[in-house]
Amino acid sequence: MQRVPIARLSFDHLSPVIGARSAVRLRNVIDEARVVLDGRVVWHINSSAQGGGVAEMLQTLLAYECGAGLDVRWLVTDGDGPYFNITKRIHHRLHGQNGDGGLLSTYEHKHFARVTKRNGEQVLATVRSGDIVVLHDPQTIGLTPVLRRAGALVVWRCHIGQDEMNRAADEAWQFLRPYVEQAHACIFSRAAYVPAWLSSESAFIIPPAIDALSTKNQSMSRATARNILTHIGLLAGYARSNDLEFTRLGRSPGRVTRRAEIIQTRPVPGSAVPLVVQVSRWDPLKDMAGVLHGFADQRHRMGDAHLALVGPDPRSVTDDPEGLRVFQDCVAQWAELAPSAQERIHLVCLPMADIDENAAMVNASQRHAAVVVQKSLREGFGLTVTEAMYKGRPVVASKVGGIQDQIADGVHGLLVNDPTDTLACGDAIARLLADKALARRLGRNARRRAIAEFLAPRQLIQLLDLLYAVAGKPRRLNNRPKKERRNRAATSDRRRQIVFNTR
Ligand code: UDP
Repeated sequence: MQRVPIARLSFDHLSPVIGARSAVRLRNVIDEARVVLDGRVVWHINSSAQGGGVAEMLQTLLAYECGAGLDVRWLVTDGDGPYFNITKRIHHRLHGQNGDGGLLSTYEHKHFARVTKRNGEQVLATVRSGDIVVLHDPQTIGLTPVLRRAGALVVWRCHIGQDEMNRAADEAWQFLRPYVEQAHACIFSRAAYVPAWLSSESAFIIPPAIDALSTKNQSMSRATARNILTHIGLLAGYARSNDLEFTRLGRSPGRVTRRAEIIQTRPVPGSAVPLVVQVSRWDPLKDMAGVLHGFADQRHRMGDAHLALVGPDPRSVTDDPEGLRVFQDCVAQWAELAPSAQERIHLVCLPMADIDENAAMVNASQRHAAVVVQKSLREGFGLTVTEAMYKGRPVVASKVGGIQDQIADGVHGLLVNDPTDTLACGDAIARLLADKALARRLGRNARRRAIAEFLAPRQLIQLLDLLYAVAGKPRRLNNRPKKERRNRAATSDRRRQIVFNTR
């Protein structure tokens, strides 16, 4: 187990984005939280401090909570290779896919329990009776019984799922069920992800959110974005060494110094060349190879545009054993392309040694993109979509999972109905490259929607509500907007769902 340092952020900086009224309301809610939580420590436990959506969200969410004076702490569990193979198998099956096709049987149960026991012993050394522990994803769910026995209140947040149950998903849920049923509350990103056997009293729906001021989303001039992409080796030319700055999560200044490892015949010839970008982990469900083929097959319709598939250095994401294989697979498929396709496609591995520097590189990639793609075959929520929407980029994405909650087709982006349809994906990209007015309109709508619904304050208030409920102290409703109170009353007898906008 490793304790992850948490930066301290103040919501005051967010006023220009969320509006002064929302900022005041937020401050009131947090003031109340300090009283209601009454000295309890709120622990978050997941399996990786960097790489992927959960780590991304915790970095900022917890920093705001800490900055507001709540006692919040973050632990990352340990695991060995076989353990992460098992949890990755569960991850794929919760998405309805077989993954590596291996078993979830007696050996897997025993090994999962063995690793969990080791983590549990360390957790018990620090968590006290009465503390609230939020466990994230299947990797940590095994800790539920030991934490309950220690008198902690346990919330499990599941960031993955799929809309329809199938055999693979059912198998994963049977594996997890004995642990899940012991949690005091469970959080899902969509109502459709809640397993039918879970009591509706303990299921809460809270979609994820992004932080407008994080290094990944903070404003960045076009010139700086271009310069960073030139520095890392994606765009041709010379980078100016005095324009590589960014602000770190804790608000100290940072500077991009490292370069990316890029598979390419040569860099994108210039910053005026339209760049199509997908940013993802190297995971089969993100279908980087599908984007590669969708683009390559229809490159004659893409003008002089290039494609960049951007992911973390696959050797650096410890809880993702598949990353290297998926990346190598993409490289092999790239190597098979005709030279005229190869020279327009770039496979980019971003260094992860400095997580803020990595975030600045992602920020630059998304901001510079003429079109952002997220061709996931399955998607719990899809933070990369939210990030692109917030930056006002036109998005082409598969109509799967939480992406559907973010984009209405033709309003905030273009959705591709069949996620395996590379032709339709290429077609939508070509449409946006050709129709600048459409691209601009979708980008504008996307930004508005991201600000209204998918920023950190909305999520924080929902989470605090849930923690109050778990602690047996429901918060007074009178400092929330009328719309929210109505929604809450209306949904109290269904799956518990708290929906409201920050504006
Ligand atoms: N990401 C990153 N660096 C990279 C590639 C991805 O920080 O090199 C981030 C990406 O910006 C997003 C997160 O990882 O914030 C991925 O979250 P998402 O919900 O899209 O997918 P997940 O990886 O959780 O399945």
